[in-house]
Amino acid sequence: MYDLIIVGAGPAGLSAAVYGRRAGLDLIVIEQTPMGGGQVVDTYEVDNYLGMPGINGFELGQKFRSHADGLGAVFKSGRVTAVRDEGERKIVETADGASYEARTLILAGGAEHAKLGVPGEEEYRGQGVSYCATCDGAFFKKRDVAVVGGGDVAVEDAVYLSRFCNKVYLIHRRDSLRAAKSLQEKLFSCENAEIIWNSTLQRIKGTDLVEGISIRQNGEDTERELAVEGVFLAVGMRPNTEIYRGTVACDERGYLLAGEDCATSVPGIFAAGDIRTKALRQIVTAVSDGACAVASAAQYLRL
Ligand code: NDP
Repeated sequence: MYDLIIVGAGPAGLSAAVYGRRAGLDLIVIEQTPMGGGQVVDTYEVDNYLGMPGINGFELGQKFRSHADGLGAVFKSGRVTAVRDEGERKIVETADGASYEARTLILAGGAEHAKLGVPGEEEYRGQGVSYCATCDGAFFKKRDVAVVGGGDVAVEDAVYLSRFCNKVYLIHRRDSLRAAKSLQEKLFSCENAEIIWNSTLQRIKGTDLVEGISIRQNGEDTERELAVEGVFLAVGMRPNTEIYRGTVACDERGYLLAGEDCATSVPGIFAAGDIRTKALRQIVTAVSDGACAVASAAQYLRL
């Protein structure tokens, strides 16, 4: 029986591993993807993590992981399929049939890309439809592409793609962007980027690969065609909490209900990072949660 099992190896989980090891806890980290790192590894450039301006996301994710590794955190790979609360004993099961037990859990499984649900989205996934510009952008050098969304990710993606694509359309459903002002300014200065305001994506078309999209301006009946070969969807995130519903209380959007101390509705189970209810989902707030969750877990273990 471990003191602590951390589910997830993004910034929150890895920060929890660092704080947990330094607190002398016997812990394991269950990571779904080999070498972990979470969403940050798909980010081209992180410009707001204190002390590391402009660092590449993959590099930052690897730094986080090797920090935890260097302190003796033990990593197990697997996709967690169930978590059971038996009071003093928490059980975590993975898809490969493994089962682990601990006195406390920190759930740090983050969130994943939301789907738009338009015709062609599923069909052309990987054939021109992508949720990660950093991962797939290079396939579209000198091509015309579209990005959908108006948040940090959409604007960051559009700026990144404009560096090597021929033309980038940013399609946003409103007349103002949600993204940080500094990112907006970067986008406004890109000569080959065009923002299509008040418009929504209706369908993605093609033969074997994406060849174009139809968009519709709010309030209009007619659709307009755009010839693009890549469509990057950046319309927000959904928390990875399906397996915890019924065990741990969630809010109406599915995030695990937990405050600054990361304590959930279940004593001994803590939630850290993008998976929990919070105002600002950033690397720095995830890292902070990892520390707070360990402090709460250590306090619980002393009871
Ligand atoms: P956000 O929720 O911030 O933005 C989602 C965008 O998609 C919004 O502009 C929203 O429009 C639009 N949208 C949502 N649903 C639809 C729909 N059905 N049709 C059309 N448009 C839709 O998500 P992001 O993925 O951009 O960012 C997630 C989190 O990660 C944020 O908290 C962000 O700040 C953070 N982040 C942090 C970074 C960093 O630390 N450097 C980098 C990137 C992201 P509307 O505006 O109208 O609601």
